[in-house]
Amino acid sequence: MLFSELGLIPPLASAVAAEGYTEPTPIQARAIPHVLAGRDLLGLAQTGTGKTAAFALPILQRLSSDKPNGHNRQRPIRCLVLTPTRELASQIGESFSTYGKNLPLRNTVIFGGVGMDAQKQALRAGMDIVVATPGRLLDLMSQGLVDLRPLEVFVLDEADRMLDMGFIHDVKKVIAKLPHVRQTLFFSATMPREAQQLADQLLKNPETVAVKPPSTTAEKVDQEVFFVEKADKRALLTEVLQDAAMTRVLVFSRTKHGANRIAEHLVKARIESEAIHGNKSQGARERALAGFKSGRVRVLVATDIAARGIDVDAVTHVVNFDVPEVPETYVHRIGRTARAGASGMALTFCEVDERGDLRAIEKLTRQEIPVVEGHPYESKIPHSANPPRLSAREKERGDKSDRPPQRGHGRNDRGGGGGGGRRGGGGGGGGGRGRGPARPPSA
Ligand code: AMP
Repeated sequence: MLFSELGLIPPLASAVAAEGYTEPTPIQARAIPHVLAGRDLLGLAQTGTGKTAAFALPILQRLSSDKPNGHNRQRPIRCLVLTPTRELASQIGESFSTYGKNLPLRNTVIFGGVGMDAQKQALRAGMDIVVATPGRLLDLMSQGLVDLRPLEVFVLDEADRMLDMGFIHDVKKVIAKLPHVRQTLFFSATMPREAQQLADQLLKNPETVAVKPPSTTAEKVDQEVFFVEKADKRALLTEVLQDAAMTRVLVFSRTKHGANRIAEHLVKARIESEAIHGNKSQGARERALAGFKSGRVRVLVATDIAARGIDVDAVTHVVNFDVPEVPETYVHRIGRTARAGASGMALTFCEVDERGDLRAIEKLTRQEIPVVEGHPYESKIPHSANPPRLSAREKERGDKSDRPPQRGHGRNDRGGGGGGGRRGGGGGGGGGRGRGPARPPSA
């Protein structure tokens, strides 16, 4: 199927073409006609399937072809997207901006952990589309800045994660303020009973579209985790890079500063490396990327945001120097290898504080990542230890000031299965792509 067969208006069709999309993904092909027709939708799909465009494109089309509901305000909120994390909110907001760039509709993103002023200003200016996490939205609603009465479309994104993160009460408070007559789109990767109850409450005579998750993690990328203490991560990186099979390596760092330090460390160890992130000039980023593409730069160290624009084939290895806090980020990161049918490998360096995040990734991908044992920098803390961890809810809620989230209390349960997750390093490596220091326990 081609995008041109979906009946998108020219401003949207050209924005999609400018993104280089020719064919809709399965969820797009199946959901867009229903949403365009004004139907409610239950979409069983996870991030990575193209679900954002599956709702953003038809919503933009509907909003641009109708006038807002009769209302006093100049520019009422016509569409609200609720999503569990700020990262998802930002990505969805960016998608609305990208796909809607040829339309006169405006969107904004609302989430906690940053100052409120800019968000208040945006709401006062009037926004057609608001993408929000529940906590901050409720805050702004209580201040009288968000009027949902004129709403036409409500999207609940990642409903299962929303429930998992304990946002049900906040979500219900928002739902209570929605107008009765509206279109509702409900997305969830899984449908536990609570999610089903919520869907039943929200949706009227919905169409259901279910798609399989992207196969990247499950099928094509061999994955391994190294338990390592924070101070040893850089040394471990140099060590694993002894493996000559690692010819084009993308290393992910959570912070820009961290990315610089990693690249500097590698250069000192005589490994050709460059860092790429938002603080670098456009020219520096382009040079680093060109070097990586040509093979001159063996290791590119990137932050998640900077990496989003990187489209390089034949990345042999992805290294997660930090474990991402948002599990989907892991899927996106490792999807950078094993492109175009090639196989690839993802190595994750996990310090004790990050074990909870690792569990969340394993839960999302429904896979246990084999642990490399016996490497020279192996953490002395038992693999089954329960480290402290701040829950996602606490992260979202606890930081309404401008402070970055702090890790605090809360527990995770890695090792809850009696250490069943531990396997030797050969779990996924095999063949010629094994790592230097990784040895099975018996070696
Ligand atoms: P999502 O599941 O919405 O997070 O989308 C996953 C990724 O797929 C995003 O990076 C999109 O830019 C990309 N994408 C979405 N739709 C298409 C399409 N039809 N063709 C190619 N890439 C797409």
